[in-house]
Amino acid sequence: MIKIKGPVDHVVVVGAGLSGLSAALHLLGAGRSVTVVERDALPGGRAGLVAESGYRIDTGPTVLTMPDLVEDAFAAVGSTMADRLELVRLDPAYRARFADGSQLDVHTDGAAMEAAVEQFAGARQAGGYRRLRSWLERLYQVQMRRFIDANFDSPLQLLHPDLVRLAALGGFGRLDARIGRFVSDERLRRVFSFQALYAGVPPARALAAYAVIAYMDTVAGVYFPRGGMHALPTAMADAAADAGGDFRYGQTVKRLERSGDRITAVVTDRERIPCDAVVLTPDLPVSYRLLGHAPRRPLPLRHSPSAVILHAGTDRTWPDLAHHTISFGAAWKSTFRQLTRTGELMSDPSLLITRPTTTDPSLAPPGKHLHYILAPCPNTTIGPGVHEWRELGPRYRDELLGWLERREMPGLGAAIEQEGLVTPVDWSAQGHAAGTPFAVAHTFPQTGPFRPRNLVRGTANAVLAGCGTTPGVGVPTVLISGKLAAQRITGPPTAPTHRTRGTAA
Ligand SMILES: Cc1cc2nc3c(=O)[nH]c(=O)nc-3n(C[C@H](O)[C@H](O)[C@H](O)COP(=O)(O)OP(=O)(O)OC[C@H]3O[C@@H](n4cnc5c(N)ncnc54)[C@H](O)[C@@H]3O)c2cc1C
Repeated sequence: MIKIKGPVDHVVVVGAGLSGLSAALHLLGAGRSVTVVERDALPGGRAGLVAESGYRIDTGPTVLTMPDLVEDAFAAVGSTMADRLELVRLDPAYRARFADGSQLDVHTDGAAMEAAVEQFAGARQAGGYRRLRSWLERLYQVQMRRFIDANFDSPLQLLHPDLVRLAALGGFGRLDARIGRFVSDERLRRVFSFQALYAGVPPARALAAYAVIAYMDTVAGVYFPRGGMHALPTAMADAAADAGGDFRYGQTVKRLERSGDRITAVVTDRERIPCDAVVLTPDLPVSYRLLGHAPRRPLPLRHSPSAVILHAGTDRTWPDLAHHTISFGAAWKSTFRQLTRTGELMSDPSLLITRPTTTDPSLAPPGKHLHYILAPCPNTTIGPGVHEWRELGPRYRDELLGWLERREMPGLGAAIEQEGLVTPVDWSAQGHAAGTPFAVAHTFPQTGPFRPRNLVRGTANAVLAGCGTTPGVGVPTVLISGKLAAQRITGPPTAPTHRTRGTAA
C-alpha cells in the first residue's frame, strides 16, 4: 500500500462529517496530533441536525447499519460504543408496503424472516429466502476485506482468489436477475434489490456484488441511536476531542499553502493552520479545487440520483407505519428509468417513510410525532435544474402529500404543525455536485479501484476521504473511507480491525 512519505505528525482533517470523524479517531489512535476544521457549527456534515420548536430533526441518514465500524472507530482511541452511544436494533428493519395492499415486515433474524416470507408468499419463496440469505453472507465475506475495506493502488490488486470467489458467486451478473434466482415473487425481489438505489444504480443494471448492501440492512441489521442519528457524529466528535483532537468549528477552508508537492498549511477564513499532512473530506470538486488538480478520467463522472425530503412534525401518527416504512409504488423499472435516464420525477413514487419517534419519542414534543419522507428524484444534471426546482419544490411537496394521504398517511396535511422541505436547491447550496448529496454513482467504472482514488497525483501529503472516493456512499462506507485515509498516513494496521457480526445468524 502506498503511504505518505515524510513527516506526518500533525494532520489537519477538513470536514467533521462521518468520514472526517472516522479519520480523526483512527489518526489519534495511531498517535498523531489532529486538528479538525469544519465550516458548520456542529459535527455530522450530511448526517446533520436541525433543532426546531421542540423537534430534533435528523437531516441525512436514517438507516444505520454495520455498527461494528463505529465500534472500531471508538476502539481506535480506547473508547467503546457502550460508553458513548446507545443503539437500538430495529425490528422490523423495514416495513414494506406494496401497491396491491400487501405488507411485509423485514426481520433481520433469519428464522423470523423465513416465517414472515412463508406467510407472505409461501413455502417455496421462504426456501428461496433461506438460500438468498446464505448467499448474501458469503458475498459479504468475500468482498469486505478485499474489495471494500481496502486501499487500492492499482486495479491489478483485484487479481486475487477472492475475485474468482466473487465471480463464482455471480457477483458480476446483474443484481435484479441474481436476486430473482432465489425469490421469484416480484415484491420480494424489490425488498432485496431496492438498495441498489443507495448506490445510485437501478437494480436491473447494478452489479450483483451490490447485494452486499442488502446483506448490511436485511441480514446484519438496522440500528437507531437513542437521541437520533445525530447522536452518532456527536459521540464520535466527543471521543476524538477526549483523545486530544482539536476541533475548529465555524471555519471554512479557503486554500492550502504548498511548498513543492507538499501542503504546509491549511488556510481558513479565520486562521492559518500549519500541518504535516491533510485529509480532505468535502465533495470531490471542492477538494480538487483546493488541491489545484482534478485527475483526468476517460469518461466524465456520473452522479447518483438526488432526493427530496419532507420533514413533518405532526400532532398525530399512523399505526401502520414502522420506524422505517417503504411505500412501493406499482411502477418499478420505469421509476428507475425516470430517476437515472429520462430525468423525470417519479410518476408512481416509491418512498422511504421514517418515523424516528417510534423508537425515541423524545425527538418530538410530548404527544407529537416526527416523520421523514424521502422521495428519490433525478440529479440536476439529467433532471430539473436548481432554477426549476425553486418553483417546482412547493408543487412537488403538494404532490407528495397527495400520494402519502392516498397511501399510508390519510389526513397528513391537516396534521402537520412543523414542516421542512429539502430539494436539490438545498443540496446544491451545500456545494454538492449535480444537486445530489449521494455523490458519484457506483457504476462499474466508478467502483473499487476505478472510483476516484484517495490519493491525488502531484500532492505528496494529502489524502481524500468521504463518499466521493473509495469505497463509496453510505455511513458504513464513509467510516471505512476515513479509516483508509488514516492508513495512508499511518500505514496499515498490524491486525485486521473489522469483525463480521451477524454473519453467523
Ligand atoms: C438525505 C440523506 C439520506 C441518507 N441516508 C442514508 C442512510 O439511510 N444510510 C446510510 O448508510 N447512508 C445514508 N446517506 C449517506 C451518508 O449519510 C453519507 O454518504 C455520509 O454521511 C457522507 O459523509 P462524508 O463524510 O463523506 O461527507 P459530509 O458529511 O458531507 O462531510 C464533509 C464535511 O466537510 C465540511 N466541509 C465542506 N467543505 C468545507 C470547507 N471548505 N471547509 C471546512 N469544512 C468543509 C462539510 O460541512 C461536512 O461537514 C444519506 C445521505 C443523505 C444526505
